[in-house]
Amino acid sequence: MSWHVTTYYCTTCGFRTSDTGSWGLKEYVLSTGVRLTIDWRLGWGHDCKSVRAVELLDLQIAEEVLRQIQSELAASTFNPKKWWCHLFKLIPNLWRFNLEHWQSSKDAYDDALDIVELIRNRQAARKCLSCGGTHVVAPLVTNAEATLENGGFAKTGFVHPECGGDMYMTEEGVRLAIKPVARRYTTEGEFIDDEALSGYSGPERQYYEDRQQHNRAKRVSFGR
Ligand SMILES: [Zn+2]
Ligand SMILES: [Zn+2]
Repeated sequence: MSWHVTTYYCTTCGFRTSDTGSWGLKEYVLSTGVRLTIDWRLGWGHDCKSVRAVELLDLQIAEEVLRQIQSELAASTFNPKKWWCHLFKLIPNLWRFNLEHWQSSKDAYDDALDIVELIRNRQAARKCLSCGGTHVVAPLVTNAEATLENGGFAKTGFVHPECGGDMYMTEEGVRLAIKPVARRYTTEGEFIDDEALSGYSGPERQYYEDRQQHNRAKRVSFGR
């Protein structure tokens, strides 16, 4: 798998950069050891003077995600805590199928709950995920009509702070495959470390499954 490179440029001063610097999985590491995918948007980092990944930290979005998963779980008839659901064990494949499905919804619920708590307890302002600077603007692309279909270009809606010119974006047909990496941060957005992952451009599915197992074990040991 390879990804399209999007280039951002300013026609006034000639500034030009690609979004490849923002690629890669980014995770918060909670005090319990639980790891969660960071929701971020492409934005402008004033300290980096460039296009960067910026934390989103939007409580409304996080609470909406939580509500959706909550209602999915409530609507599901299968729940291993209900005695009659154990009758499914008579058909082992059906039991396994239902249990796995329920478990993945439960994992998603726990993750969403942790994200809501993280945002509520967060002290520091949102940060540029490259340098940690808090002087950021995100999202960068605010022009709702911006679309890059057919290799065109579009105004991003962002004014280049260095010169006051309009920023544009374009997809140049370049596709890159890079070694995926997970960059890890504290709940306050401070960089901890990174880890090279197997796969091309994005982590393999196995990575997410292993992370869920890891998170479950951490939650059990912390009584969550
Ligand atoms: Zn410019
Ligand atoms: Zn920065």
